[in-house]
Amino acid sequence: MKFSDFPLHDSVKDSLSMMGFEKPTPIQEEAIPLIIEGHDMIACAQTGTGKTAAYLLPIISKLAEASTDHVSVNTLIICPTRELAVQIDQQLQGFSYMSGVSSIAIYGGGDGSDFDTQKKALSHGADVIIATPGKLISHLNMGYVKLDNLQHLILDEADRMLDMGFHDDIMRIIHFLPKKRQTLMFSATMPSKIRTLTEKLLNNPKEISI
Ligand code: AMP
Repeated sequence: MKFSDFPLHDSVKDSLSMMGFEKPTPIQEEAIPLIIEGHDMIACAQTGTGKTAAYLLPIISKLAEASTDHVSVNTLIICPTRELAVQIDQQLQGFSYMSGVSSIAIYGGGDGSDFDTQKKALSHGADVIIATPGKLISHLNMGYVKLDNLQHLILDEADRMLDMGFHDDIMRIIHFLPKKRQTLMFSATMPSKIRTLTEKLLNNPKEISI
C-alpha cells in the first residue's frame, strides 16, 4: 500500500514525499481510512508505530480541503507531556507545510510569561491546539478559548495521562467541547480504566490494535 492510495489532499501527499515518507505503517493503513470516514476510534498502539501521523494526516487533509479561517479551533489534541506536545506540533508543521494549517502548543512547566504568550496565541485562535491537560484547563477557565466549532478531539497516550492523574482534568475539558465531534483515542495499553474512558467519551468507536 502507498500513501497515494488514500484520499488525502494533494498538499499532504506533497509534504509526505518532501519528508521522505514512502509507505504507510500498519496503524496508518488501518486508521487513516476510518478517520477520513468520520468514525470515532480507539487504537491500541505504542510509540514508534507512526501513531501520530496516523491521526495528523487525515485531519490536516480535511483542514486543507475546507480552507478554514485559521482562527476557529477545529482540532484539539490532548497529550501527557510537554515533550510529546512539542513532537506532535513539529510533525504537524512538517505535514502541513504546503497547506498552511495553523497550530498552538500549550504546556506547563514554563514561567508566567509563557502563560501570557500562550494566552495571546489562544485568544487569536488556530486550526489545531495541542495541549497538556492541566495547562489547558487553566486557560479554558479564563474564557478566551473558543471551542464552539471544534470537530475533532484526540487523546494521545491516554493510559499515560490517566497514570499521571489527569482523569479529572480531561473530564473538565470535555465539558467545554461540543457533543457532536469526532473523538480518537490512542493508548499503549488497554486496562479497564481506559475501557471506561472510551465508553464515556467515544461514540460507537471502531477499535484497532497494532
Ligand atoms: P510515532 O509512533 O508517531 O511516535 O512516530 C515515530 C516516528 O516515525 C516519527 O519520527 C515519525 O516521523 C516516523 N514515521 C511515522 N510514519 C512514518 C512513515 N509512514 N514512514 C516513515 N517514517 C514514519
